[in-house]
Amino acid sequence: MLKLPLVNCMVPSSRAIKDTFVLYKGISKQYDSLEILHYVRNLIPGKLIGDTEVKDRDEPLKSVLQWFKKDFMRWTPKDPKCKRCNALMITQSIKGNSWKLRSMEMYTCNNCCSLQVFPRYGEIIKISESRTGRCSEWSMLFGAILNSLYIETRIVHDYLDHCWNESLIDGKWVHIDSTLDYPISFSHPYYYEQNWDKKYSYVLAFSANSLEDVTKRYTQQWDLVQLRRKRYKSSVKAEEYANIYSRIQCT
Ligand SMILES: [Zn+2]
Repeated sequence: MLKLPLVNCMVPSSRAIKDTFVLYKGISKQYDSLEILHYVRNLIPGKLIGDTEVKDRDEPLKSVLQWFKKDFMRWTPKDPKCKRCNALMITQSIKGNSWKLRSMEMYTCNNCCSLQVFPRYGEIIKISESRTGRCSEWSMLFGAILNSLYIETRIVHDYLDHCWNESLIDGKWVHIDSTLDYPISFSHPYYYEQNWDKKYSYVLAFSANSLEDVTKRYTQQWDLVQLRRKRYKSSVKAEEYANIYSRIQCT
């Protein structure tokens, strides 16, 4: 009999579902905006992609992946130290009023009372201006960057506190995670399960008008995933998630 670990294996709550569905619909629609794609394409150093239309898709993708992590983005830690005195800070998160400004994280220094603010945007251009964030900001912006290079790319969320991208390469969706070091960042779908001990229930991929259950692509323990879904009596099936997603209006 298979043993099912209790930790970190829950189906997403209806609240998490609603919030992420609205956000990812908003993000995916931005991937269709020529204005936004043009803006982010101009951020990429020309030497990485050349001036003409990209022909060999893998090569610029890998170069851009490395540039994005090494040179462009910065990571925003969950427990930052004070920039002035290096002391620990007290964290407060205020919910935003829409997917465009998801929340505002405020950090107050225990020692000198200085304040740091981290607005968590859903708007691609705002993220590209701030050039900082965690996996959600990184994957939302990086998805736009790849779409701007005519590499069809979508957002993937595991409902265990991580998200990444998938790109359509030679007719297949390929795992891309700009927060990881290359080459792990490219086509290593089992990395999280093998190294972060992820215990999936649902891994979902989002496009502008559709949602796909892609859990199987990221697990070598599909039987355990099915047991988890059964055990937590998820009343919602992947097809129902797709229906809910298709009905979401995003303004
Ligand atoms: Zn301080």
